[in-house]
Amino acid sequence: MRFGLAVLAIFYFTAFACAPALAACYGTNSKTKQRQAVQEIYRASSHPKRYFAQATHDARTGRPQIFYYRRYSTAPAHFKRFVRHHECCHHLGNHNEIAANCCALRRMRLSTSGLTALRSYIVSRDVNSQTKVDHKGQGSAFWSKTARQCNLGVRID
Ligand SMILES: [Zn+2]
Repeated sequence: MRFGLAVLAIFYFTAFACAPALAACYGTNSKTKQRQAVQEIYRASSHPKRYFAQATHDARTGRPQIFYYRRYSTAPAHFKRFVRHHECCHHLGNHNEIAANCCALRRMRLSTSGLTALRSYIVSRDVNSQTKVDHKGQGSAFWSKTARQCNLGVRID
């Protein structure tokens, strides 16, 4: 039993020590107006509008939150990273979708090939058409607007 616990403790230590560090994600508490780490919550269910994720606040405490929905869990890692940064960027005050995209791309510091991979996923899957609402920040329309407005210093369209 004692041995079992020790092995478990080592396993957990190793798992956490080796886990890649996620970029910090902060927002403003809607009640206290203080800066606070965003609480990230993973849902097995789908969003009614089929969003990948949503930036919101805890209704009771005001803590900034991001909810990730089922579609997020099945997306490729590079797109998941983009979605997370996009939602973090909403919490940093980028309310406009394109502004949040630009903020996300700046935070990600992607190589040219990384940008190409992200672009091809977004355009080829046209993630906008997979949502039930016309969300102008996504899909091929997203990419051309983002490419025009972000001024990333590289051509991405
Ligand atoms: Zn958004």
